[in-house]
Amino acid sequence: MLHIENPTDESHIKDIETDTPDSIKDAFLRAKRAQKEWRKRPYQERAAAISSFRDALAADEDELARLLTQEMGKPLGQALGEIRGTRARIDFFLAHTEQFLRQEQVLPTEDTEDLPAMREVISYDPLGVVANISAWNYPYFVGSNVFIPALLTGNAVLYKPSEFTTLTGLAIVERLHNAGIPKDVCIAVVGGGDVGAALLNQPLDGVFFTGSYATGKKILSAAAQQMMKVQLELGGKDPVYICDDVDVQQTAISAAEGAFYNAGQSCCAIERIYVHKDIYEPFVEAFVEAVKDYKVGDPMEEGTFIGPLARGAQFEVLQQQIDDAQAKGATCLLGGTPLEGKGHFFAPTVFRDVNHDMLLMKDETFGPVIGIQAVENDAEAIEKMCDTEYGLTAGVFTQDMQRAEAILAEMDTGSVYWNCCDRVSPRLPWTGRNHSGMGSTLSHIGITTFLKPKAWHMRRPA
Ligand code: NAD
Repeated sequence: MLHIENPTDESHIKDIETDTPDSIKDAFLRAKRAQKEWRKRPYQERAAAISSFRDALAADEDELARLLTQEMGKPLGQALGEIRGTRARIDFFLAHTEQFLRQEQVLPTEDTEDLPAMREVISYDPLGVVANISAWNYPYFVGSNVFIPALLTGNAVLYKPSEFTTLTGLAIVERLHNAGIPKDVCIAVVGGGDVGAALLNQPLDGVFFTGSYATGKKILSAAAQQMMKVQLELGGKDPVYICDDVDVQQTAISAAEGAFYNAGQSCCAIERIYVHKDIYEPFVEAFVEAVKDYKVGDPMEEGTFIGPLARGAQFEVLQQQIDDAQAKGATCLLGGTPLEGKGHFFAPTVFRDVNHDMLLMKDETFGPVIGIQAVENDAEAIEKMCDTEYGLTAGVFTQDMQRAEAILAEMDTGSVYWNCCDRVSPRLPWTGRNHSGMGSTLSHIGITTFLKPKAWHMRRPA
């Protein structure tokens, strides 16, 4: 049984029956049968169902946003923003998927009237039945990055939402069914890590996972037993470097938002800030002022920028990083403790005088706590930014594009940002390197990843 709790006041919302190994096996077998028929449906039929799901997201956005806020504590405006952003991603997939389903003749390279003596053709099949095991921090984004292109390309999906956003996951699947996706083509699998692990005992054709590095390693090793395709979107310790030529006030506001949006619970949140020594003092001051302006509190209330953390257990990680930083000489300028009273609220926290001996600058924080470190020059900034096992995003703020390009070219990360941060585009691949994962969602790469090629060698009879 899953006990669902509201992180804002710790009230009990609902208990939900979880899946069992038997119900998961049954779901897999149903999906396997249903996929054979689904892949043969004309593309336009599959697209029509996804398009009507998109319309349902628009029609129900208030109700869905409230549910998400109730369940994981994201401020209502940010929940609405996520649902609207998801519609834009669906538009991208609807506009671009069909072209990748067409077969390509690669020999001869030009069309001939007669049947050529030898033809070579590449066609594309869906993978089959894939698992979509999701995180809770952006359930619409990370879920739909997988299930929308997977369904459009003719796959069946066993979708396991996070145990912290199960109600949202079920609301999504209900709307997919109402929109015309057959019930057995997209099946919700309910539960926590044990249920996710049981799902991977099925002979799936692929697993598309979003979550932590620690769980990602377990997924990879479980998937090896079944020889299935694996895609992992994992955590980050994303750095940003503030050069000495920026507008300090504006840049501090942008960087603070990149660090504290969704209470810092974004995979691509700014987790480390490096500032050129010549502007370190004014930047730190402006940054603290920007963070002081944030309204912290009830996420249902208008204007709230920071709500509770989705999981109270994260307090332990934050406290450990804070204690370690303070023991090693960092200065806490703001926050540093949980807020008193009910709910998983943690005060937005800013540290200065941090360094790479501290956990705060090494391990994923995934909460409203940030360290700001001074650097001598661009070379030191590059060295510090690259001193990480993660590789999701890295950013630089400067007036000078060439300087930005030179710095960003050195980053071993899936995305790089100039004068922006915490940004995802449906047109660009979303991909992590090293401990941040493998494979890509979004862009054309996030479509073709749900397909497998078939090579046709076609010799005309003599
Ligand atoms: P998590 O790893 O705890 O859980 C993710 C999912 O895996 C959940 O659905 C969970 O039930 C399931 N799971 C747990 N153990 C499992 C197991 N042994 N086998 C199969 N499934 C299992 O992560 P989380 O707390 O939900 O999410 C936070 C993490 O996700 C952060 O590290 C964040 O950076 C990362 N994240 C990455 C991206 C990205 O695009 N790179 C996006 C969002 C979140």
